[in-house]
Amino acid sequence: MTTTLTPGRAAGGSGSGHMPGRCGFRRSPRRSPRWSAVAALLVSLFATACAGVGPRPSDGLQRETDAVPPPPSFHSVTATPGARPMEEILALRSRRDHPGARLRIAFLLQETGNWAGAESELQQILFADPAPDRGVTALARWLRARGFERRGDRERARAEREAGLLVADEPELRERLTERAATPLERGSASPVPAVALAMMPRSTWKAAAARTRSMKPMGPVHRITIHHSATACRDARTTASIAAIRSIQRYHQDEQGWGDIGYHFLIDPAGRVWTGRAVDWQGAHAGDDERNQGNVGVCLLGNYTPGDQGPPQPAQIEALAALVQQLCARHGVAAKDVVTHRELKQTDCPGPYLQTAVEGLRARLARSGPLATGAGRGAAAPTGN
Ligand SMILES: [Zn+2]
Repeated sequence: MTTTLTPGRAAGGSGSGHMPGRCGFRRSPRRSPRWSAVAALLVSLFATACAGVGPRPSDGLQRETDAVPPPPSFHSVTATPGARPMEEILALRSRRDHPGARLRIAFLLQETGNWAGAESELQQILFADPAPDRGVTALARWLRARGFERRGDRERARAEREAGLLVADEPELRERLTERAATPLERGSASPVPAVALAMMPRSTWKAAAARTRSMKPMGPVHRITIHHSATACRDARTTASIAAIRSIQRYHQDEQGWGDIGYHFLIDPAGRVWTGRAVDWQGAHAGDDERNQGNVGVCLLGNYTPGDQGPPQPAQIEALAALVQQLCARHGVAAKDVVTHRELKQTDCPGPYLQTAVEGLRARLARSGPLATGAGRGAAAPTGN
């Protein structure tokens, strides 16, 4: 749980906006039994294998103790990472001679945003002598395609997918290797412009309490956009659930933090609806302190996207985020480099590695598409923030 709250300061605009586990519904992380089983199997598999190997045998006498791990599968490689993916990576390093461990390391590196490190692992798998078998090759090709897509190299991503489909036998992997199955997170910077019409929900739809403007500061010129998660699990895509969550955040910010209004300017729910929070005319309370909040539009995805909680954000949420940020950049003249995550401004887990990589991809995509005219967005409602 992210707790980066500035203690006790009232007034209108300091502090971070996260609530320390407030949402009344479904707070506990729900992991699918299948993923948990796969993760447990993987851990026990490698624990057994590690125990059996020890120091490298020089004379072959210990070979009969070597466990033979089963061949890697789509599920064993992509099982949901635990709370500390780096620890799992460190534990697997001694088993790099097994392709399942190496593929898992590559996947985990990607999940933490280390795309170059993952690519290095994958090259060593694919170009090993002797060559890897069909299943390992197909998994490595898919992971490479993910990496190329994230870095905007669509041609190489497509080539990897095609190469993977030649040798993939697992139905789920074959589905992932078809381009249309790629999620927005996997597509990363590949699509130049999100053509999503934003579903903007004004304050009246969530029955916002009135802003207490006496304790708020005018925004001034906008020069930055900061992305957060709410740090409270939120899987329910119904409108009523989003309203309850947003009202709860506002109550916490106004009544417990003593701020003038909800700290964020926009909130995005699991269905991809964009809810207007604090009016953009007013400085937000989300980035950590008064200096960081100046000219800084706060966008919060409802949910907890740290590893080991509810998993990655919904594709609809990422698409809405991309469309909203693009419109805000156009409206306020914000440069791509100034679209940042909370943890890029201060020491915090917010918004977790899934969103971190999504924002990095979005930033690359915005940098490639260049400055946009104000009002771009194909008939979508303009994000005025009121
Ligand atoms: Zn944050």
